[in-house]
Amino acid sequence: MSGVETIHVDGVWRGAASGDRREVLDPADAKVLAVVAEGGAADADAAVAAARRAFDDGPWPRTPVAERAALLRRVADLLQRDREEIALVESRDTGKTLEEGRVDVDDVTNAFRYFADLVVAEGGGRVVDAGSDTVHSVVVHEPVGVCALITPWNYPLLQASWKIAPALAAGNTFVVKPSEITPLSTVRLIRLLVEAGLPAGVANIVTGPGDPVGARFSEHPDVDLVSFTGGLASGTRVMAAAAPTVKKVALELGGKNPNVVFADACATDEGFDTAVDQALNAAFIHSGQVCSAGSRLIVEESVRDRFVTELARRAEKIRLGRGTEPGVECGPLVSAAQLAKTEAYVASALAEGAVLRCGGARPEPSETRPATGYFYEPTVLDRCNRGMRVVREETFGPILTVETFRTEDEAVALANDTECGLAGAVWTRDAGRARRVAGRLRHGTVWINDFHPYLPQAEWGGFGKSGTGRELGPAGLAEYRETKHVYQNLAPAPVRWFAG
Ligand code: NAD
Repeated sequence: MSGVETIHVDGVWRGAASGDRREVLDPADAKVLAVVAEGGAADADAAVAAARRAFDDGPWPRTPVAERAALLRRVADLLQRDREEIALVESRDTGKTLEEGRVDVDDVTNAFRYFADLVVAEGGGRVVDAGSDTVHSVVVHEPVGVCALITPWNYPLLQASWKIAPALAAGNTFVVKPSEITPLSTVRLIRLLVEAGLPAGVANIVTGPGDPVGARFSEHPDVDLVSFTGGLASGTRVMAAAAPTVKKVALELGGKNPNVVFADACATDEGFDTAVDQALNAAFIHSGQVCSAGSRLIVEESVRDRFVTELARRAEKIRLGRGTEPGVECGPLVSAAQLAKTEAYVASALAEGAVLRCGGARPEPSETRPATGYFYEPTVLDRCNRGMRVVREETFGPILTVETFRTEDEAVALANDTECGLAGAVWTRDAGRARRVAGRLRHGTVWINDFHPYLPQAEWGGFGKSGTGRELGPAGLAEYRETKHVYQNLAPAPVRWFAG
């Protein structure tokens, strides 16, 4: 595979039908990192046609579950074999630290192993009692068909794998379109699937822009399911484009995630240190470019000053730089557009009366921080309120807003004051309160005295405009399966509904 042959259709690597190319930039210095094929509608159509043939006539959907699971486990082994190399690709493409890249490879490995185990454990269907011993009734699962998988730039390898692993486990064929900004690790993953022995046409990738490639996938009559992770605006376009063909649609969209800290969580020095430490992690890991980033700190009024002062002191010390440099804790933002968006959100917050406690600017360039890179300082904005844009909208940058509450009801109301209920956390030493608040939060994941962990065994997804459907867990496999009821009459006889 040469540099620009990043489109894989029917088992063949090639460039775009148009010959177009795109430069992929290193966000740490804005220099060209790679050149990839800039696919278009013709490439999208060719990929769908290949996936359709592989589904209708190929062996994969009919391959025994144990063999499909074995292939997924081989992919997991290959991911571990190439762990360092893939982590480096992900770090350079997205800007995240090398260590975060390694964590992503390990998480993805676990997801492939989990879905391999799950699909075997779930067995071959469920016998239903039809109330007659002359009827055999069974509910079985079958693959949906051709799946279009569209992913964002913040966790390219991880988001692709959360879709690819269950799609393959269930026996589907697929076309995947990674973000045009960060396509490299997904191309690498497809190479591993090929190496693991997946038949031609089962796994196809088209690198290229959302429109036309993702848009064509979404409307295509030969695509049976589209699973999309990305922003609300693109997600609603995908849903609308999919409607005329009534294909299945799964959307994993944004979040505006609250991190609720009660004063009792800070009663001891250790508790205080942990809550501050985790608030930093919640907001600033991967420079806040995380769908579940804890970007809204909602802290009890009585501890606000101490908490925010310590938070800002520590945020200022976060070491910004190129993600591959040893000692760097936070990389750049992914693109110039993301940097400009962050700057605009901070400016609007300050204009609306927020108080800047730290950050709020691009850092001074240094040896590990080229002036051309998209770096922005971790920023804490105090005295925020729900009327501010920065509090209402997903910034997807290193911005933490601070709001305060006096009562539990107030805390819950603030935490739920978003249309995108993806994830949230509550910090308290009162177990009863923890359970009460967790029960009232309208978010798809709630952490109690923690932030960010997720498990392949547990469903991931949001309430409201954060999306439809779930990834991971049994529901993450169910997305990729049709359910069929097979009712067999063992003693057929006329029913005589009609007399004649
Ligand atoms: P985006 O919506 O701009 O792009 C996502 C993908 O959709 C890209 O591959 C893009 O090319 C494609 N796309 C764009 N327009 C399209 C169209 N009309 N039809 C089909 N595809 C189209 O999002 P982004 O900026 O890449 O990613 C950031 C967003 O992703 C954030 O909102 C974040 O919250 C969300 N996200 C959600 C989760 C989750 O699990 N809920 C995880 C990661 C990211």
